[in-house]
Amino acid sequence: MCGVFGAFSPSGSSVLEDVYLGLYALQHRGQESAGISWINGEENIHSLKGMGLVHIALDQKKLASIHAGCAIGHVRYSTTGESLLANAQPLAAKYARGPIAIAHNGNLTNSDGIRRYLENRGAIFQSTTDTEVIIHLMAHQSHKPPLDALVDSLRRLRGAYSLSVLLGNRLIGARDPWGFRPLVLGKREDVTYIASETCALDIVGAEFIRDVEPGEIVVIDSTGIKSVRIPVRTTRHFACSFEYVYFARPDSVIDGRSVYKVRKALGEKLAAGAPAPSADFVTGMPDSGTLAALGYSEASGKPFEIAVVRNRYVGRTFIQPTDLVRNLGVRIKLNPIRELLKEREVVVVDDSIVRGTTARRIVNMMRENGASAVHLRIASPPVRFPCYYGIDTPTCEELAAAQLDLPSLEKMVGADSLRYMSAEDLVAAIGKPRCELCTACFTGDYLQGGDEDGTDL
Ligand code: SF4
Repeated sequence: MCGVFGAFSPSGSSVLEDVYLGLYALQHRGQESAGISWINGEENIHSLKGMGLVHIALDQKKLASIHAGCAIGHVRYSTTGESLLANAQPLAAKYARGPIAIAHNGNLTNSDGIRRYLENRGAIFQSTTDTEVIIHLMAHQSHKPPLDALVDSLRRLRGAYSLSVLLGNRLIGARDPWGFRPLVLGKREDVTYIASETCALDIVGAEFIRDVEPGEIVVIDSTGIKSVRIPVRTTRHFACSFEYVYFARPDSVIDGRSVYKVRKALGEKLAAGAPAPSADFVTGMPDSGTLAALGYSEASGKPFEIAVVRNRYVGRTFIQPTDLVRNLGVRIKLNPIRELLKEREVVVVDDSIVRGTTARRIVNMMRENGASAVHLRIASPPVRFPCYYGIDTPTCEELAAAQLDLPSLEKMVGADSLRYMSAEDLVAAIGKPRCELCTACFTGDYLQGGDEDGTDL
């Protein structure tokens, strides 16, 4: 998962610090690397990139001192390609028709085939990210104007991409025809912004204009905002339901739905479908389970307590790439309040179970601190299938719910009871028609290639 941001000022006022702040607000979408690219005049792209969190990877003071009216930025959590500086984005290049830089959120599902095709025709790739195929596809169409080459390159892609692109002196946003990942447009005075989430518009004081539509390319230059379609025929959309469950910030609004409200609604549905009548109170795993726990509490009439305190300076466990770090992370970051738990029956709400190790540790931790019974409630359906669209869920072999049935999983995590919500309730809580949402990691209902044409090279 990654976050993208972009800013364009027709008057040429400097936007680099805005991009830095936008990335800062999108930090939850990726902590491995951060980068900003900007353009001075029509000719040269400059980039600043580094490993780690935004404030470590990028020098804010330096950015504030550079004058550039058009820039894009990226925060990365690797889902394809290793965690290396060479894979940090934006990816920038100068091809026959001029400079280009791309920041990408999502995973392409046909990039291996495109890469092989291009390598067989002489292309030399600089990184191991799937994003680089877009630049090479464009380079292979240097007879076309750059925007036409970009449209034609995007037409050939399958899978998930929300892009922020610098093309000459234009800022471009593009969202794949299935709408997997969010992308929004905003404005402050004469500056236009592109961002993965609305929380990044808020930080720069920009007003939300609208979502970039699935299959839409927005071209922003000194003449205004122009909209172009990616010519791919689709039969439905696949907006990621996991963005609402876990990934996006609760102060963001995605495709017209407040993430905060959806998370509370998930908890309400969970309380109705998976009650725990004997419990004394409800608590949520901080932070991603907290809002669903609030919803559960309101709907069940049981009090809400903050029974687990999170060290806010430690990164989110799901984000950490290795088992070792992940295991250590749970202990380092969460501390229960013994006085609340002692001899009480508690409902613990969490957003999801992936490998099951975190859930087991949480239940253990509750018991060690005196809870007489722990009822684990999960505000999403069981994650049984890997994600190929940009979220780092592991293989089926590592997914606890793919390997174990509910009673075995309940035993494995050590809960007195374990219940999930149904896929129907998930869809209802999000409030979009099922045919517009991706639920593949819960249902195995992946995007099929058969009804979309145009992958020919
Ligand atoms: S498979 Fe799951 S995580 Fe991936 S895009 Fe679909 S809903 Fe989101």
